[in-house]
Formats: sequence, structure tokens, C-alpha cells
Amino acid sequence: MTIKLKKNATEREKERIISILKENGFDSITVAGKTATIICVIGEETTKLELLKNLESYPGVESVTPVNDPYRLVSRRLHPEYNGKTKVINVSGIEVGKKPIIIAGPCTLYSLEQALTVGKAVKEAGADIFRGGAFKPRTSPYDFQGLGKKGLKILAEVREKTGLPVVTEVMDVRDIKMVSEYADILQIGARNMQNYTLLKEAGKQEKPILLKRHPYSSLREWLCAAEYIAVEGNYNIILCERGIRTALNGEYDRNTLDLNVISAVKEKTFLPVIADPSHGTGKRSIVCKASKAAIDVGADGIMVEVMRDDEEPLIECEKRKITYCDYNQSISISEFKDLMRWIGKKQ
Ligand code: PEP
Ligand code: MN
Repeated sequence: MTIKLKKNATEREKERIISILKENGFDSITVAGKTATIICVIGEETTKLELLKNLESYPGVESVTPVNDPYRLVSRRLHPEYNGKTKVINVSGIEVGKKPIIIAGPCTLYSLEQALTVGKAVKEAGADIFRGGAFKPRTSPYDFQGLGKKGLKILAEVREKTGLPVVTEVMDVRDIKMVSEYADILQIGARNMQNYTLLKEAGKQEKPILLKRHPYSSLREWLCAAEYIAVEGNYNIILCERGIRTALNGEYDRNTLDLNVISAVKEKTFLPVIADPSHGTGKRSIVCKASKAAIDVGADGIMVEVMRDDEEPLIECEKRKITYCDYNQSISISEFKDLMRWIGKKQ
């Protein structure tokens, strides 16, 4: 439900409407646009439809429109104030939503030495934000699950030494507080896109969220997931297309980077959207071309997995030999430098 106020509505009239909503258990958000002021009602409206419709007779109110859209706070249609533009999200000084930004770093953090080598190199090549997984969602419970808190401490050090903001995944509501103390952006991974408890809790803290799309999710489901975060008060959401499953995956790729969805996202929401060509292709030889393509179709940036030049598929971590996570889709530092040159960033 949205309540449009008259052009000459007074502050008192506006406040009265907001307090009536509050008395009836509805939170609201007021959007003062260039041509009109609109109050968006949040909460389950269907129970009090009558009451809300009555607001039309209050002074200062021009019209009351029921909205059935499954997502509202992130809907471009309901936020004309963006006027075709993308919301700019400030990540510790980096503006996401203006010109394309580059997030780069290893899939998984294994050691300080590894993280710093990659961190310094990607910074020098022109990356804007460093990525690295401390908590890893792995298909098999026997695979390495990440360094956890130790990984977060490594991230803090990379941040300090390179000056790059950092993004890392949070998988569990119990870790949100801790992860948000270290990270500049909290990633909610593809597997957790519909973990509504996690989305809601992430929406209650202030760090921006990188919300990945589930490989089977529709655009509507993805934006509804973003809405769950926004409803709790956090509007700083960056969407990330990371490849969908198609019947043919496996022959030459792991996932299919859905380039079409980038334009569709731009139509439906004002939130910035980036692409992850590493997970989106699963194949090193396609990553750079897919990165370029994503930027060409209007993505607000890319997130790419980068490893050391001499990285092996088996890595030593805390005195154990384990397989390097996402080795086949990680590009080397040298390849990353080429990519940056190619897309016209520094060097
Ligand atoms: C990742 O970014 O390393 C990751 C696990 O991503 P996704 O959730 O897209 O699989
Ligand atoms: Mn990965």
C-alpha cells in the first residue's frame, strides 16, 4: 500500500498519517520525491485493508493505492525518485553503482601469506575491493570448510596492508555479529539466498550486503530475498548474478552466466548488480571474456576469483594437504592483470 500526499500537505498532516499507521502496527517509509511525497506501508496489510483505505479521507492525502507487488522497497516502479538511475552504495569509500567496480581475491582463505600475496597484487592491478572466504559452503561435509575466525583475522590484515575494503560470506545467523566486525560487505551466498532467517538478521545490521542469486532462482525470488533484507532497515544491497544451472552445464562450463538478467534487474530495481564470472562459468578460460561481457551489458562491476600464479590444485593449509577450492575457475594474478588492462582499469 502506498499513500500519496497532496502537494501542499503539511508536515503535521504527514506525521498524523504516520502515527495512525504506527498505532495500527504498520511501519512506514516516507519518500519525498521531486513531484510527490509517498508513504510506503510495510507489514501485512490485507488484515486492515478497510482502515488503510479510510486514510484517503484524511487531510493532506491525495490517494491510497493498494500494492500487490511481492517486493516494494527495492522496486524501481515504486521508487520514481531513482528516475532510471542506480542506487549508489558507499562501501568504506568505494562507490558501488557509479562506474564498474572490481572485486577480486581468492575463493577461500588458506593462509596470511596466500591472502596478502593476492591482496597486494590485485590492489596494484587496480581492484577496488578484496574478497576471500573464511566460512565456506561446501557440497561435501568432508571438504575444507574454511578457517572461520582465523580467516576473518587474515582479512583484517589484508585490509590494513592494502587499504582495500573486504567482502566475505556469512552462512549462519550466529556469526553475523562477528563477521560484520571484520567485513566491509557481508556476502550471502547462492545457497542461502532463501534462508529467510539469515536475510532478516543481515537486514538488522548496517554493513552492505552482497546478495548472490541462487542458480535456480527466478528474478522475482531473488528480489524478494533482497526485500527481506530491506524490510529490516538495510537498503544497502548489491545483487550478484553468479550463474544459473542449465541442462547443458558440464559439457564446457559449470554454470551459465545469465547476462540477460543484468538488464532485467536494471528494469525491476534500482539496486546495483554485479556479475561473478568465476562461479558463472566455472572455467578459467572463459572468466575474462565473461567479465568483459558482463560490464558491456551494464553490470555495476564484477567479482572474480584470483589465485597466485604458481598455485597448485593441492594446497597446504594448517599442515594438511587439501584440494584448492574452485581452482578451475580461478584466474592467476597475471591473468587478472591482463583482465584489468583489458577492461581499462589502471596498468
Ligand atoms: C563464493 O563466492 O566463493 C561462493 C561460494 O559463491 P556462491 O554462493 O555463488 O556459490
Ligand atoms: Mn568460490
